[in-house]
Amino acid sequence: MIASLDIKIEKTKNSKLNQVDFDNIPFGKVYSDHMFVADYADGEWKDGRIAPYENLSLSPATSAIHYGQSVFEGLKAYKNVDGDIVVFRPQANAQRLNRSSERMCIPPVPEELFMNALNELLKLDAAWVPNNPNTALYIRPFVFATDEFIGIRPSDTYKFMIFTCPVGAYYTEPVNVKIETNYARAVAGGTGYAKAAGNYAGALYPAKQAQKDGYHQLIWTDAKSHEYIEESGTMNVMFIINDTILTAPTGDTILKGITRDSVLHLAKENGYKIEERPIKVKEIEEALKNNQVQEAFGTGTAATIAPIRLIGVGDQKYQLPAVEDRKFSKFILALLDDIKSGKAEDKHGWIYKVK
Ligand SMILES: *Cc1c(COP(=O)(O)O)cnc(C)c1O
Repeated sequence: MIASLDIKIEKTKNSKLNQVDFDNIPFGKVYSDHMFVADYADGEWKDGRIAPYENLSLSPATSAIHYGQSVFEGLKAYKNVDGDIVVFRPQANAQRLNRSSERMCIPPVPEELFMNALNELLKLDAAWVPNNPNTALYIRPFVFATDEFIGIRPSDTYKFMIFTCPVGAYYTEPVNVKIETNYARAVAGGTGYAKAAGNYAGALYPAKQAQKDGYHQLIWTDAKSHEYIEESGTMNVMFIINDTILTAPTGDTILKGITRDSVLHLAKENGYKIEERPIKVKEIEEALKNNQVQEAFGTGTAATIAPIRLIGVGDQKYQLPAVEDRKFSKFILALLDDIKSGKAEDKHGWIYKVK
């Protein structure tokens, strides 16, 4: 196993830092100076190193490219009020990476390696963590199969990598979503609970169809009956009806979002009513018809809270109450921001401070 002391560091000679306009950062297009890489071979992770961010050289027969044996994570680092670099619940991401990996026959990354790699990378690229409101350093850990082999079997070799990018807001406006009752994202017994590469490729086509009708994203329903709400795009989804927060339970078709878990924890502690149970499309449709949906939003690391402005059910489009009037979304977003920035106490041990 690789301890942090064994991580070799090669610093860039050409920092791109001064080329970045931190007041105007597009999502996911600007990459920080360094990346972490470790290789898996002969049954162990080795050669942990931080190197200048650069292209990889891969065989055209690299198995991940053909068969998608590849998993990823997404998390964020922030600057707190004291100027420390903090990361929100990274251990939960390390654990989920390994749950995803298990499903895809990928060897686990020891949590200690994940945390050490993250710590060293963030320490080195600390200047890349933006300071402005609504900005963060997005962190992308991933593991993929690297055998040069086009037979189908679990690879013997892998790469575990982490790169980072400073980001602004993921969605710049509230989203229009369509309840999808034809295509499915995940099936019982499938890979929906894993952050496995192929899940996202399979979701592109249905989303593209909806985009032609003016929607930004889909609300997925269960693959079998299409009667139950599952997720919204690549986010968990919540509704507020009768002052009660409604969200579907996680399982093999619904990914266990860390933002979802954090929102539910904080909501409960602050006296909000929560119902975590299967949600029927019919029930949401009824509530929309009767103007009873007070709020609807997606939860996920990229956007934290993505307010939903309009929901399409069949041919009907229902407008939701103005985003400015949404008490819960505003409250929870501010509380999460305060915990991350250190203005509110971190009662749950969610904040990891880079050492
Ligand atoms: C990543 C992801 C989420 C959100 O998870 P967070 O841990 O909150 O970022 C929800 N659903 C899907 C399908 C995802 O890929």
